[in-house]
Amino acid sequence: MQQNSPAKINLFLEVTGHRADGYHEIRTVFAPLHSPLDHISLARCTSDGPTLACDHVEVPVDERNLCWNALLLHARETGLDSNWHIDLAKRIPVAAGLGGGSSDAAATLKLLNSQAGARALSPAALSRLASQLGADVPFFLEPTVSLAEGIGDKLQPVPCAASLPVLLVNPGCPISAAWAYGALGRVPVPDPPPVQALLDALAAGDAAGVAANTFNALEHAVLHKFPLLGMLRDELVTAGCMAVHISGSGPTLFALGESDCLDDAAQQMEQRVGAPLWVHRTRIMRTAGLLSQPHDSAADGN
Ligand code: ATP
Repeated sequence: MQQNSPAKINLFLEVTGHRADGYHEIRTVFAPLHSPLDHISLARCTSDGPTLACDHVEVPVDERNLCWNALLLHARETGLDSNWHIDLAKRIPVAAGLGGGSSDAAATLKLLNSQAGARALSPAALSRLASQLGADVPFFLEPTVSLAEGIGDKLQPVPCAASLPVLLVNPGCPISAAWAYGALGRVPVPDPPPVQALLDALAAGDAAGVAANTFNALEHAVLHKFPLLGMLRDELVTAGCMAVHISGSGPTLFALGESDCLDDAAQQMEQRVGAPLWVHRTRIMRTAGLLSQPHDSAADGN
């Protein structure tokens, strides 16, 4: 059985507080993307406990992998065994602010739950389990444009009238989310626009309004530490993109704009900068229904 897991960008990310347990309280707007998609397959295996293979050298294939953790947690919660082999085809850049590991973990939970029969967990119980794996994981259980508060786990889907075009640019230097949050306060952060302005623009399908109200409190320290990102951002702005920000803790930059403009900007980035830049054109996914549901690969001959 297999499932695709999407990437996300944060159209808005405001840090609203710091909790005693080390987590930050945030207000963020998650937008899932049509691509890139990781691809997760699960098959029964004879070993005692999970095994995992991944085609990306930087992704751990043991208990450090969030899919592995998701499997053990789901098995413990349902009382089912964990004798599964996980095959992970990684297409979402790693440690990139695009939520790849969290998305893979959510996909693993959904796949397992679809096979759990009478022991399947309710949506609320699955969501609770997801939040134990990471603050972003519950969002990926039903990835649709959402306002998230708390540590990012209190989710409220929001209307989004247009599948807005997006350009992603990743320079290939991984950034840890813990570092980016730790660096908050080292450089001044401007006041965010009211999040409601972004939500209104999304509901109206107003691309210019969306672009004008994007915000990321984390990006200022990240841009300060990695000047290359500022140079790439300036190139994208010069190429006519309407808004350019870092997604989450970075380093991936996302640009919003007209499709043709983003195509031209993508071409320019590839020609002027080239390798090792990863440049990807995609769109915001308006509804999770567009993503393939967990399905049995044996049934379709794969
Ligand atoms: P976050 O903001 O949560 O750090 P991210 O999108 O920036 O997310 P991920 O791609 O999820 O970053 O990877 C963060 C780290 O998590 C990686 O360095 C990797 O060692 C580890 N990891 C664990 N499981 C996975 C997975 N399934 N895919 C990618 N990385 C994983």
